[in-house]
Amino acid sequence: MSELRRDPLLRRWVIIAPERRADLIDRRLKPAPITGDSPCPFCPGNEHLNPSEILVIRGERTNQNAPGWLVRITPDQRPLLRIEGTLERRGVGQFDLMSATGAHELVIDTPNHDAHWADFDVPHMERLLRSYLTRYNDLRNDRRFRHAVIMKNHGAPWSRYPHQHSHIVAMPFIPRRIDDEFIGAKEYFDLKERCVFCDALREEETRQERVIAANADFVAIAPFASGFPFETWILPRRHMADFGAIGERGLPALAGIFQETMSKLRTTLNDPHFSLVLHSGPLNGERSAEFHWHWELIPHLSGELGLEWATGVYFNPIAPEDAAACLREGVPLT
Ligand SMILES: [Zn+2]
Ligand SMILES: [Zn+2]
Ligand SMILES: [Zn+2]
Repeated sequence: MSELRRDPLLRRWVIIAPERRADLIDRRLKPAPITGDSPCPFCPGNEHLNPSEILVIRGERTNQNAPGWLVRITPDQRPLLRIEGTLERRGVGQFDLMSATGAHELVIDTPNHDAHWADFDVPHMERLLRSYLTRYNDLRNDRRFRHAVIMKNHGAPWSRYPHQHSHIVAMPFIPRRIDDEFIGAKEYFDLKERCVFCDALREEETRQERVIAANADFVAIAPFASGFPFETWILPRRHMADFGAIGERGLPALAGIFQETMSKLRTTLNDPHFSLVLHSGPLNGERSAEFHWHWELIPHLSGELGLEWATGVYFNPIAPEDAAACLREGVPLT
């Protein structure tokens, strides 16, 4: 039975999930093979291999839990956090513990087994983003949850299935990595009475050195102090802490910039493995003045995590200006 444990030194919550022990031995960092005996669980016709759908977008009128969908969201088959039960907190001597309560939903991004995000047309990308938005705002109604992330691992060794999918995870706490951003944003705001992200956007748009793509509502940049080669952020031009407030009207432009950024990334880095995450304000609407929602993406280009693990110091061999130039011009990295 999994549980949440708080590290009193590093002030972060850790999911201890003994039921996932077999993953360590099973996987040896290899993706699950797709064969006749173990078909792709995300292809149309295999809906029965996943739990019942929570949200689905259909192209035509077809039955529930049957083919004909364009985006399909179900509870994750093996959730990291469980939706059932009340949130229990307790202390064990010095330590703090919580039940592993939360939501873990699986999004099948497309019915097409081989389609890459860069292949999605803008209307499909919009559909996918709309599904994210609907679930995000629905999870907010569950008062047990303080934060939700939307994330995707493409092709990474720990991503078990090649069929494009993503995750929505709602948690009863603010994750440490994101809280660090909240704290930094608050400090900057207290000092200058301005949003640090809005300031950075102004700077980037003036200099144009690290801008990868831009449209009327969104900008994709290589951040000034990128910790990873080709790290890419997508931010709204308009100040907004809460992704849930983007509204229907914001979706076409966000879909457009995603489509553009994804194809540039695929061209420049020859379809890299990547991780993508949404950073948004807390679900209760706090932090609205100082935080500014954004997506962060890192391609997995090297396995060099030794220094980062040892010290928290990142090492990046590509200056973000050079990364942005390659991506902007869509030239392969040489
Ligand atoms: Zn498939
Ligand atoms: Zn802002
Ligand atoms: Zn962030």
